[in-house]
Amino acid sequence: MESVILDPLEYRIDRPSLLAGLRLKEGSGHAETVEGLIREAQAVAHPRAIYRMAFIESRGDRHVVAEELRFESRILRVNLENLHRFFAFAVTSGRELEAWANAKTDLLERFWADAIDQAVLTSACLFLDRHLQERYGLAKTAHMSPGSLPDWPLEEQRALFDLLGDNRKIIGIELTESLLMVPVKSLSGIVFTNEDGFASCRLCPRKGCPGRRVSYDPELYDKKYRDPSPTSHPVQS
Ligand code: SF4
Repeated sequence: MESVILDPLEYRIDRPSLLAGLRLKEGSGHAETVEGLIREAQAVAHPRAIYRMAFIESRGDRHVVAEELRFESRILRVNLENLHRFFAFAVTSGRELEAWANAKTDLLERFWADAIDQAVLTSACLFLDRHLQERYGLAKTAHMSPGSLPDWPLEEQRALFDLLGDNRKIIGIELTESLLMVPVKSLSGIVFTNEDGFASCRLCPRKGCPGRRVSYDPELYDKKYRDPSPTSHPVQS
């Protein structure tokens, strides 16, 4: 299957949760400034996504081969255990919004603009999930991103971007030499069917992470993902 581009991709800024996340009271002066920034952001925001369905061809204890590309991760391998396909994706809130946020010279406004940019990306990711669920009849889905856990390191971006192909450039995402994405408010990874509510945060012990979605389960790796072979790698380095 060829890559599919969603341009523009829908999004919706959840104002109450954005204000709550910034610890601003509705109706306060700062909240009104943020409301104004949201209006500015909505005038320029242009999120986009690319995805590609990939069929699994073979698997080892710690890897999966799909579309002739090898993905090295014990956790990914176990999560794809009973599946024959997954969806590689990359989503961005867009260069337009990044340029708008970067142009803010006031430190506090820059901070808020950055939070709005992140809120657009988060929402765009949810719309991509919904698109995949509706178009392909998927039930519950989960996703994994290279670099979110040491088990699937950032170096795996190369295979992921090879899978997405050159069309990825159409949506304006570049991969730097250090394998980070530009625009910064971009997310790449795989989406797969999952009934267990998988989330990388369950396997990540990082304390105080503002992006944490669910609590850390210190027993989950041993219960579900521990590789029986002696070369088994830990989740957290
Ligand atoms: S806790 Fe934070 S760093 Fe760890 S996986 Fe979740 S979002 Fe990423």
